[in-house]
Amino acid sequence: MITGACGERYEARGAIIGSSMEAAPGIHAVDFDGRVWAYLYREGSRFTLIDAGIAGRLELIEQELHAAGAKLADIHQIIVTHFHGDHTGTLAELQRLTGARTLAHKLDASVVRGDTAAPEPVLSGPEQAMFDYFTKGIPHAPAANVEVELSDADEIDLDRGARVIHVPGHTPGSIALYLPERQILFTGDASGSVNGRPIVGVFNTDPKQAKRSFQRLAELEFEIACFGHGPAVTHDASASFRQSAVAIPMITNTLVREGQGALATLNCQLSTRRCIIGSRVI
Ligand SMILES: [Zn+2]
Ligand SMILES: [Zn+2]
Repeated sequence: MITGACGERYEARGAIIGSSMEAAPGIHAVDFDGRVWAYLYREGSRFTLIDAGIAGRLELIEQELHAAGAKLADIHQIIVTHFHGDHTGTLAELQRLTGARTLAHKLDASVVRGDTAAPEPVLSGPEQAMFDYFTKGIPHAPAANVEVELSDADEIDLDRGARVIHVPGHTPGSIALYLPERQILFTGDASGSVNGRPIVGVFNTDPKQAKRSFQRLAELEFEIACFGHGPAVTHDASASFRQSAVAIPMITNTLVREGQGALATLNCQLSTRRCIIGSRVI
């Protein structure tokens, strides 16, 4: 587990994580101000974008591509892990600029398109304060196209085949992406990381279902986990998931406690134009 300020480099047992850098070879993390991370997955000269970040911040994706010697037009597909606006914010703009096809689970696709209202999360008392803070200042995500509707166990043309894992609970159509050959898992918000631990995501439409989905992820074998919120776990990640899965009630309570501390830290750091990413970020 690594902590530090945005713009620094974070070394973890040979892997590099953090802003403007690779979570693993060919996987570029796009850091949206320490709040949300999206990922650019490189295959030769073409890129898959996993989640589209916050509306109005397209330049962050563009900067990451430029750093890799590429441009927006090199994105050929966009996979959104769920409909939340911090994961679909630049989607409509990207579609206009790149023509990339977009893939999302069939249960979230109509919300992304703007055809269906988003179901509200079921928030515990302490979660409400986190939710109010976290969603403040995140602009509304414009409606966007979804060309490919996904189901559990679908295989996506990504590397040597990425498997869709349907992990409902955070939203009805939340997905994780599992690359068994490279032993990498993209969790979306089915999980986040706090203090180097994978935890069940927060702000869930069905909290019990979210816990079951987390346990399903813990049954997979993977070395690296890339989250929508919180730094990647870059070594023996599935073992960390199994440890967390055993202690889900405790972890959930701990998250709520640490979450309040995280808010204070994050608020402080953002107000001084420096964002701490790592142990205190939710
Ligand atoms: Zn979410
Ligand atoms: Zn999110």
